[in-house]
Order: sequence, then C-alpha cells, then structure tokens
Amino acid sequence: MMNEDYYSHLVKKLEQQRDLTDEEFTAILTCADEKTMDFLQQRARAVREKNYGRDVYIRGLIEFTNYCRNNCYYCGIRRGNERAQRYRLTEEEILACCEQGRELGFRTFVLQGGEDAYFTDERLAALIRAIKKRCPDSAVTLSIGERERDSYARLFAAGAERFLLRHETANQAHYECLHPAEMSYSHRMQCLQDLRATGYQVGCGMMVGSPGQTIAHLLQDLRFLQAFQPEMVGIGPFIPQHDTPLAGYPAGTVAMTTKLLAIIRLLLPQVLLPATTALGTIDPEGREKGLLAGANVLMPNLSPTAVRQKYTLYDHKICTGEEAAEHIRSLAQRVSSTGYQIVKKRGDHLSFTERSN
Ligand code: SAH
Repeated sequence: MMNEDYYSHLVKKLEQQRDLTDEEFTAILTCADEKTMDFLQQRARAVREKNYGRDVYIRGLIEFTNYCRNNCYYCGIRRGNERAQRYRLTEEEILACCEQGRELGFRTFVLQGGEDAYFTDERLAALIRAIKKRCPDSAVTLSIGERERDSYARLFAAGAERFLLRHETANQAHYECLHPAEMSYSHRMQCLQDLRATGYQVGCGMMVGSPGQTIAHLLQDLRFLQAFQPEMVGIGPFIPQHDTPLAGYPAGTVAMTTKLLAIIRLLLPQVLLPATTALGTIDPEGREKGLLAGANVLMPNLSPTAVRQKYTLYDHKICTGEEAAEHIRSLAQRVSSTGYQIVKKRGDHLSFTERSN
C-alpha cells in the first residue's frame, strides 16, 4: 500500500517538472486518497496563479453549424443521427454573435462546428476577415475538425490565430473503438502537427471516461501531451447521447476530470485550460471545481438561443439560463466565489503574448 508521503513526493516531482515513471503516473491516476487529491489541486492552483494570476479568460463559443460528414460513435451531431435537426448560421448571424459578445466583454470567439462542406476555405476566410474587421482586438479560434495543411494555412492567413482539435485518445486501438474505419488516428495526429507548423496556438485533449478507456490509455494521453506541448488542452467527461451507438455507456466522472486537470496544469504550467461545458453538465458546480483544480478558461455559449438545443453533442448539455453568455454577470459571481475573476482580455498563451500585443 502506498502511503501519503509517497503521493506528496509524486505531486512535488510533477510540480518541479521532473519526469514521472509510468508506475508513478499510474499511482496518481489510480489514487483516490482525499488528502492527496487536495494537495494535488492546491499545487495546481499555485502553478496556475504563478503564471496567470487570478485571471479567468472567457471564450465566446459560437456553434455555427451542426452539419457533419463524420460519424464519431460518441457524438450527437454525427452524420448518421437522423434525428439531429440540422442548422447552419449565416455570416450575418455569426457576426452579430461576435458583436454582442464583444459588448459583454469577450475578446476571443471560438467558431465550433461539425465538418460541414458548405464552409469552404473561401467562405471561412471571408468570415474570419469580417470578424477581425468588426472586432480587431479579439482573437479567433477555430474548432472545425480535420482539414488539409493548405486549408489550415489559408484560414491562418485570414486571421485565425488558435485552433482546437482534440486528439480524443492517444491510443490507436482505442481511437478505433470510438470512430468508424473511415476516420484515422494517424490523420488526426497529422492535423495537429500541421496546425502547429502553420503557426496556430494549438489545443488538443481527450474525453475522460470514454467507453473502453483504461488508466493505461490516460497515461498515453499524458505522455502525448508532454511530447506535443500544446498551448491549450480541452478535456471533459464523456457523456452519452441517446441517439448514438455509445448511448448505453456511463459518463465520465468529476473526480477523474478534476484530477486530470490538476495533473495537466502541473505538466504544462502555462497551458490554457478550460473548465468545460461537459464538466458543468455532469455537476452543477463542475466548472467551479474545474477552476479550483487548475483550469483558467471558461467557454460560455454565444450561439443564438434558437439553435442551442440543436447542438446536442451529448445529453442534457447546459445551454440555457445561467450558463448563457447573456448571464455573464451571474457567471462572474460564480467565478468570484472561487477566488478568481473573469477578465476582458484575449488571454493568449504566455509564449504568444508578445507577438500579439
Ligand atoms: N467537429 C469538431 C468539433 C467537435 S465537437 C472536431 O472534430 O474537432 C468538440 C468536442 O466535443 C469533441 O472533440 C469531443 O471531444 C467532444 N464531444 C463530442 N461528443 C461528446 C460526448 N458525447 N461527450 C463528451 N464530449 C463529447
């Protein structure tokens, strides 16, 4: 049996940026000791505060299309889901979301969607330029899935500066359990390399507790994060969606998600790390718990209210009332209850801050 001293030694080792062995990572990943978990989160907060102070960056999430050519087994907007009501926002609608968001204090807009062929490079580049023209002090983040390198380059040239593409799992066999054969692990990984080479601030990440996920898979995810050194990491619990092939599987847990957030903060001290909507969905205080585990970003929904219920990646996704960007003031209160504060800043990764200011 491992004792408390052993675990605090591991946490300190992580904080000092010393490499853990596979056995040591596994010990932390399987540890359920409350004191250890408190200590881990306390050190994660210290590292976050050292790098980003008490600031919480907010990103206005605009879910601009739920048409998707892919058929990921976990996702509610997969092409095979005939019950999904499809929609696509117009350029004017998207620009209106950004302008409204800017008024509310947002300085980053995240365009997220399914892989929708309507949005060609030309259309997206024009959209990005239009956003940059209306909100020149704001960053544009894309979360639009896999494309080819020249496409990523055109969108970067149009002004997008960040890109989120979760790797979903760093284990190829596990990737193949979550995706149909027409999708490939190697292409997703290639996309991440292409995004990095293009000059984006890049975000990757995995679902926590996805069907078939083991501790060994999570260890591989952590090793991948260590090697890739992303500027952003998005992790959240898997949550079943009733019209998908993985409908019958249980959701990931708050405990494992907050533990991973804290480990990732220690592994990548300057990483931009959101407390995600999925975490806020499985627990009404999930996002506060995420902030207390080392997260420093929130991504409230800025999509028009009428389409929010249609972007159902998973069941019971929080998308109305308090969670919505209109209620930013109550969100600000929730954040201050954790001792942190929402700020009106772009919130670039520290290594990119000089280039953008
Ligand atoms: N099409 C884009 C955006 C995907 S949606 C892309 O491929 O990158 C953003 C993220 O939502 C996905 O990367 C996935 O990790 C997450 N997601 C999808 N379905 C989910 C589910 N059922 N539970 C939890 N997270 C889910």
